[in-house]
Amino acid sequence: MLIDAGFSGRQIRQRLASIGRSPETLTGILITHEHIDHVQGLAALSSKLKIPVYCNRLTKEALEQQLQNSVEFRIFETGTTFDVGEMTVDSFSIPHDAYDPVGFLVHTAFARFGFLTDLGHATKLVLERVRTATALLLEANHDVKMLQDDSKRPWSVKQRILSRHGHLSNDAAASVAEQIISSELQHLFLGHLSRDCNSPELAHSAVSDRLTSAGASHIQVKSASQEAPSQTFCFSGQSAATVERSPLPVHASSS
Ligand SMILES: [Zn+2]
Ligand SMILES: [Zn+2]
Repeated sequence: MLIDAGFSGRQIRQRLASIGRSPETLTGILITHEHIDHVQGLAALSSKLKIPVYCNRLTKEALEQQLQNSVEFRIFETGTTFDVGEMTVDSFSIPHDAYDPVGFLVHTAFARFGFLTDLGHATKLVLERVRTATALLLEANHDVKMLQDDSKRPWSVKQRILSRHGHLSNDAAASVAEQIISSELQHLFLGHLSRDCNSPELAHSAVSDRLTSAGASHIQVKSASQEAPSQTFCFSGQSAATVERSPLPVHASSS
């Protein structure tokens, strides 16, 4: 399963190859929302290979306006649970300036993976939905001070990013992490980091410092990178999580 397809089809193929996989082995592609940094490689992958694309109706309609080729959609209603191969997926609404953006919690036999990116703030519903995750991809988009001081972005763009339908800052991500601490949560991947208004070190320290102060040092925090895939993790019934091989694309969003 692939969640979002923000890189080019070629880039996604190369990254899958680096972990011994190929797009042909995908059971489905899940789409959180229609913004281009989440769907750039979608047509190249899904229309040629006929990989089913899972999204809600409004996202499908928005995608149909953008995509040149037709793709095979499997429509779910936001808030519902559905199966993709052997996995079960919960979908839930998130606040972001797209048609009907969602987050996911993917259940497998041995672990639950939360996927939470592109949201202006974490609602109570969002926190409840990812509370049982074993591993979570969490947006840590920007450092507020760096964004405010940034000279490239106009004021209106900054306002959009900082709004309640924009993106999570490092501090906001830290507060989400703090609120969902559990003994089950073992891995936290920080993603969707802004190139100009954040750094992997800043995002990491904002979140891990908060977790350490809250006594949750069992949670491994890592900043995901746009340049290179992360480690691959293998979850099984015996061990909670072991590193299978490196690297793993935890997601394919390019922003
Ligand atoms: Zn995005
Ligand atoms: Zn977005």
